[in-house]
Amino acid sequence: MKIQTLAPKVYVPLLAVHAAVLIAEPARVLSWSYALVLAVMLFTLFLGGRRLRLSVAHNRPWWTMLLLALAVQLAAFGLLLADSLVHPQGTLVAFDPTFYFCLSSLLLTLAAVYNPVGPLHRWASALDAVLACAAAGLFYALLRDVIKQDSAETSTASLVMWMFDAMALFVVACATLRFAVAKRADERRFFVVLLVFAWAELVFPAIHNRFILSSESYLPELCLDLPFVAVGLRLSQRRNVAFRWYRPNRRAYLIAGGTSPFVLSMALCLLAFAQFDRNRALAFGAMAMGVVSYAIRVALLLGHHLRQEGELKHLQRGLRRTVVRDELTGLLNRRGFYRNLDRVWERVAQERLPIAVALLDIDSFKAYNDAHGHLAGDDCLAAVARALQQEADAYGDLTVARYGGEEFAVLLPGRDRATAEHVLQRLRLRVEALRIVHSRSPHGVVTISAGLAARDSGEQGEKSELLDQADQALYAAKRAGRNCLRWFAPDLPASGLDRRG
Ligand code: GH3
Ligand code: MG
Ligand code: MG
Repeated sequence: MKIQTLAPKVYVPLLAVHAAVLIAEPARVLSWSYALVLAVMLFTLFLGGRRLRLSVAHNRPWWTMLLLALAVQLAAFGLLLADSLVHPQGTLVAFDPTFYFCLSSLLLTLAAVYNPVGPLHRWASALDAVLACAAAGLFYALLRDVIKQDSAETSTASLVMWMFDAMALFVVACATLRFAVAKRADERRFFVVLLVFAWAELVFPAIHNRFILSSESYLPELCLDLPFVAVGLRLSQRRNVAFRWYRPNRRAYLIAGGTSPFVLSMALCLLAFAQFDRNRALAFGAMAMGVVSYAIRVALLLGHHLRQEGELKHLQRGLRRTVVRDELTGLLNRRGFYRNLDRVWERVAQERLPIAVALLDIDSFKAYNDAHGHLAGDDCLAAVARALQQEADAYGDLTVARYGGEEFAVLLPGRDRATAEHVLQRLRLRVEALRIVHSRSPHGVVTISAGLAARDSGEQGEKSELLDQADQALYAAKRAGRNCLRWFAPDLPASGLDRRG
């Protein structure tokens, strides 16, 4: 039988028998009642154990803590059963199960603060775990004091109930805040269970406790089953149907991330405040711990964000570089060239300087690839690029870019025609001087051709027009036999496309 269908089939009869026992009130009704609560808990533990076995390794600590919390409560109810056998009518605070309930709440809190992913989370989890233990210890000490010092039983019981409600509320706060930021599906599966259990442990015991003070009936004892029934039914579900609509967003992270460290530190400070008249040294110590731990949490978070910011900036720099750089040659790519051209164009216009642009193209490169292989072609491109850049570096403000394929572009701001031509001749000769063997070139080595276009100082015109003119000039250089340069002249053939054929 499927576990989803088995769970209600076990819980419903158990609840029905429990209700019948509480209504019929046979002899030792309390003992019967505790025995039935124990039966419900045992079945819930069985479901929890099954869930633990099915869970992935990194989630086991969570399920284990939940199971331990259940087991601790099982021990408490076992002792209550033993106590009820001695005191059949029950006593309000005769047997003291507080330790077990405190321990169970601590385990649930530890499950809520445990986060194994990431160094920040590990440190924060460890700090929160220490705080949770300190808070649980203080709370237990306070509870012991309250139980011991007051002899008026009903008022003591009432105060203890309020304290238990506060403790359950604290666990609910931790579980809810943690659920609010649970992102991974497996994480959410656990935190839905924890959330259900935490809320059920707040609501049902609170109802039970209020009724046993005012009612003569034993029926409120049924409330003791309900948290375990709720969590058991949740555990038996294979898929997360509850809260499917909920996905943590930025706001949830901000609110929950900001509140969760505050909740633990605040709880500790409040407990310290309550301890003030009893033990000042302990109260001061706890208060200091609450405040200092909050400061450490904030520092951890700040450090984490600063580190992330540094990483992001580094990545951003890398990205910016790759956007404008050509990977093979390390030169600016066409985008980078256009960016520089925009900047330089504005400057020369403002300063009324001349500007020249050259487009360079490796001669018969297709034949080079065919003869020497594509890899050698890549090496050749890189060597030519290096040579061009080194030569250009000697002039300071020249821009050299890979314009595309085996074409390069050179920007020469503030150069008149004669200087620009001189620079380009040097670039051409520098490539020739590399003496990269080209078996299918009439020169025997790799050469380049260049087309030049220029604007004189103060002359109007568009950037695209200048580039187009340089392209036409390059075409003319190719037609003139390659390994040479040509200036744009208005009577040049208009299209540069057919030379690429
Ligand atoms: P021309 O002298 O007229 O420029 O002739 P070409 O062979 O150089 O010109 P064409 O446009 O016919 O061929 C260009 C070749 O450049 C074709 C292409 O395979 C090669 N090429 C373009 N980019 C790369 C690259 O990154 N690596 C290599 N190995 N080859 C490339
Ligand atoms: Mg070429
Ligand atoms: Mg080409």
